[in-house]
Amino acid sequence: MAGQKSRVLHRSLRETPPKAIGGEGMWLIAEDGRRILDASGGAAVSCLGHQHPRVLEAMSRQASKLAYAHTGFFSSEPAEALAEHLVGEEPGGLAYAYFVSGGSEAIEAGIKLARQYFIERGEPQRQRFIARRQSYHGNTLGALAAGGNAWRRQPYAPLLSDAFSHVTPAFAYHEKRDNESEPNFVARLVAELEAEFQRLGPDTVAAFVAEPVVGATAGCVPAPEGYFRAVRDICNRHGALLILDEVMCGMGRTGTLHAWEQEGIAPDIQAVAKGLGGGYQPIGAMLASGAIIDTIRQGSGAFQHGHTYLAHPMACAAALGVQQLISEERLLDRVKVIGAHLEHRLTERFGNHRHVGDIRGRGLFQAIELVADRAKRTPFDPALKLNQRIKAAAFEGGLACYPAGGTMDGRSGDHVLLAPPYIAATEDIDMIVDRLGHAVDSALKSVGH
Ligand code: PLP
Repeated sequence: MAGQKSRVLHRSLRETPPKAIGGEGMWLIAEDGRRILDASGGAAVSCLGHQHPRVLEAMSRQASKLAYAHTGFFSSEPAEALAEHLVGEEPGGLAYAYFVSGGSEAIEAGIKLARQYFIERGEPQRQRFIARRQSYHGNTLGALAAGGNAWRRQPYAPLLSDAFSHVTPAFAYHEKRDNESEPNFVARLVAELEAEFQRLGPDTVAAFVAEPVVGATAGCVPAPEGYFRAVRDICNRHGALLILDEVMCGMGRTGTLHAWEQEGIAPDIQAVAKGLGGGYQPIGAMLASGAIIDTIRQGSGAFQHGHTYLAHPMACAAALGVQQLISEERLLDRVKVIGAHLEHRLTERFGNHRHVGDIRGRGLFQAIELVADRAKRTPFDPALKLNQRIKAAAFEGGLACYPAGGTMDGRSGDHVLLAPPYIAATEDIDMIVDRLGHAVDSALKSVGH
C-alpha cells in the first residue's frame, strides 16, 4: 500500500528504509528490484551470504520437528550438537556454551557468570570490571556500562553502573605516540592497566573485558604484538578473569575461528554472536571455561540467570548449519586468502589517497579510516557527517558497507568497515573496492574535498 505510514519504529524516525525482499549469496534485493552488493553482512553478520540452501535446509528440517521447547524442561538436539561442535574439544579450555539471542545478551551473561563465580569461590569482594574506551559490548545496560563508546553511553550515563572503569585502547593509529616504539606503546598500556588494578584494589577486580579486534566503534583495530599476552598475565597475577568479546570479530571473521588464537592466549569467558548464526536466526553464545562452571556446579549448582529463548532450537539448528558448513568447506582458509586479496585491493585503491589515513584489520574484517590531514591524522569535522555521506553514496551505487563516526574518541573520526561474506569471490572483492572508491570520492566531493 504505497504511501501508507510505517508503524515500525525504525532506526531513523524521519525516514523509512526500503524493504529488502530477497537475497542471493553476496546480494540483497530491494523492493524496487535494485540489487545491492553486501560488503559488510549488515554489521558483520551474514558470514555465508544470503539464502544459503544448506542452512535453509537445516532450518526447515528443525522447523518440521520442533520449533521451541523451554529450557526449564528440555534440552534439544540442535543445542546439544551445536555446543559439542563449538566446545566439544575444549578450545583454549572453553568447555561449555550458553546460548542466547544476540551479542548483548552474551556479554550480560559473561559479566554475571564472572560475578557469580567469585561469589561461589568465596571472593565476593570482586565486583569491579575493567574495560577499554573506544569499544562496544552491546546496548543493554550492563553491556553498555562495560562498553567505552562515548556517544552511545552519553544519554544513559546516569543509569550505567560504576562497577565498570575504562583504560586506553590498544589503538596504535591514534594512541601510539610518534616517538614511541610499538613495544613501548604496549608497555605503557600494560602499565596503565596494572595501575588501574592497583587503584581499584587488585582483589576487587572480577574481570578485564575487551574485543580482540575492535569492531564498529574504532573500525577493525587489532592490538599490537604482545598486548594480549601481557593482559592475560596481569589477569592471572591478580586472580581476575579475562572476558573476550568476539561478537563481531569471532567465528572465523579474522581467518581463525576465534580471534584470540592469533594472540597466543585464551579467555576464561567469551562472547560470540553475529557470525555464529550468520543472520539466519538471532543467536549468540557465552562460552565458559570448565573451571568456572565446575566451581558453580560444586557450589550453588546453577547459573543464576536466564531468558525465555535460551538455546532456542531453531536458532541452534541454523547456527549448527552455518558452523558445519564453515568447517566442512574449509571456509576459514578462504577467509585468509580472500581477506589478503581485500587488504591488497584496499591498499592499491586507498594507500595513496590523501584522505585515507589508515587501512587495517584481519581476514575479511577490514576498515579504512578517513582523515582531513594524513600527516597530522586529524579527523574531519563531525558536523560534516562524512561517514553517513559515504554510506548513502555507496548504497546509491549498489553497495552496502558499514561506515561509522567517532572513530578517534567517540565524537570525531570516520571509518568504513567491511566484512564481506566468507563465500566472496575475488571478483566480488574487486567490485566492493571499486564501488567503495567511488562512494568515498563522491562523499568527499560533496563536502568540498
Ligand atoms: N559486542 C560487540 C563487539 C558488537 O560488535 C556488538 C554488536 O555490534 C555487540 C557486542 C552487541 O551485539 P547485539 O547487537 O547482537 O546485541
